[in-house]
Amino acid sequence: MTKKYDVVIIGAGSVGVPAAYAMSREGLKVAVIDELPSTGQGQNKKAIGGIRATHTNPSKILLCQESINIVASWEKKYGTDIEWHQGGYTFVAYNEAHERLMKENLVIQKEAGLNINWVARDKIIELVPGISQEGLRGGTYSPEDGNSSPLKTLHAIQKQSVIQGTDYFFKESVVDIQTENNHVKKLMTNKGVYEADYIINAAGAYAKEIGEMVGVNLPVFPDSHESGISEPVKKFIDPLVVDLRPGKGTKNFYFYQNEEGKFILCLTPEPLIPGTNENETSVFLPQVAQRLINLIPRTKHLKMRRTWRGLYPMTPDGSPIVGKVHNLEGYINAVGMCGQGYMLGPGLGELLARLILEKTSPHDERMLEELSFYRDFGKVEKLK
Ligand SMILES: Cc1cc2nc3c(=O)[nH]c(=O)nc-3n(C[C@H](O)[C@H](O)[C@H](O)COP(=O)(O)OP(=O)(O)OC[C@H]3O[C@@H](n4cnc5c(N)ncnc54)[C@H](O)[C@@H]3O)c2cc1C
Repeated sequence: MTKKYDVVIIGAGSVGVPAAYAMSREGLKVAVIDELPSTGQGQNKKAIGGIRATHTNPSKILLCQESINIVASWEKKYGTDIEWHQGGYTFVAYNEAHERLMKENLVIQKEAGLNINWVARDKIIELVPGISQEGLRGGTYSPEDGNSSPLKTLHAIQKQSVIQGTDYFFKESVVDIQTENNHVKKLMTNKGVYEADYIINAAGAYAKEIGEMVGVNLPVFPDSHESGISEPVKKFIDPLVVDLRPGKGTKNFYFYQNEEGKFILCLTPEPLIPGTNENETSVFLPQVAQRLINLIPRTKHLKMRRTWRGLYPMTPDGSPIVGKVHNLEGYINAVGMCGQGYMLGPGLGELLARLILEKTSPHDERMLEELSFYRDFGKVEKLK
């Protein structure tokens, strides 16, 4: 039997679940399909939980500000603790080029309404006690950014979306989408057939394959990133810290200490590792440990507990691809989240709901243009 919905979302991940929440709250009948057994089992659970509006693309700044509002008010509104902590983000500068880059970025960031400032070296030392002071020039600090648990967030949002009437279909793979007269007609899974006015591609690292089903050639190519978590120690660092300096085999390094006192560490490998392999490497842990010790020497006795590896669904310019496509009614992209799908998800869900309900503001239209499938992908996000 064919199941009928206003909206079918492919992917119960960082983007699909908040989109289902926003749409079902507005009265739309929504289904979410995922081939994995439960919510957030794709890349969402690989995220370390950083939520920043500190970007250089104005649309990403606005979307993440909306995400922060949603995540920060979630517990008060719905009573579920998602471990939100507003510790801020600090990007630290150790050379003139990074100081200049950060100060240039401030112009765009402030224009978009972000609460961010350049802070002097002493303030960085106060924010990040024990940070290596040699060559430290200062950095940026955005106090409204923060972190929360990706999996807890997604489960809480899923629960609310179910209360609002969303149906979830797990262990079900989307295998084809039929179109007729430039309109999406039917979506086929390995278990059944769905009809909907709108089909949203929120398939993360596998978005390209879904696009191909409707003849949309998406420039979304996954590459892999690793992360690690330490034993808990008394918390002494509040913000998430980003060090843009390259190191041996690493492009940059970032970490935060969660509320339990555990350090959660990440880096961007250099060169990047394209593909979908999610098996941990043997090089990551020594690399990331060295970077932490170089930056915060007093962590040298910290013990790491485990590491994991996941995928960034990358686009050529580091920004997502969002919105409708020409000559195909009913198909919507919500893909290419790169390393920021968790922080973009809630804000993006609201934008997608407004798009479907034809309630977009001039601001929204500007964002959709900036994130369009048809944009010039040559303008690269500087903090991607
Ligand atoms: C180590 C690491 C750290 C990260 N840290 C952060 C962070 O701090 N903050 C942040 O914002 N982001 C972070 N990210 C990035 C973030 O995890 C991703 O950007 C985000 O999860 C992508 O969201 P998504 O909804 O597009 O994809 P996903 O969350 O992966 O969801 C897509 C879903 O689609 C399903 N799917 C795909 N194809 C099909 C099909 N044919 N049929 C049915 N289902 C299908 C998949 O099973 C999956 O569940 C991190 C990533 C990694 C690897």
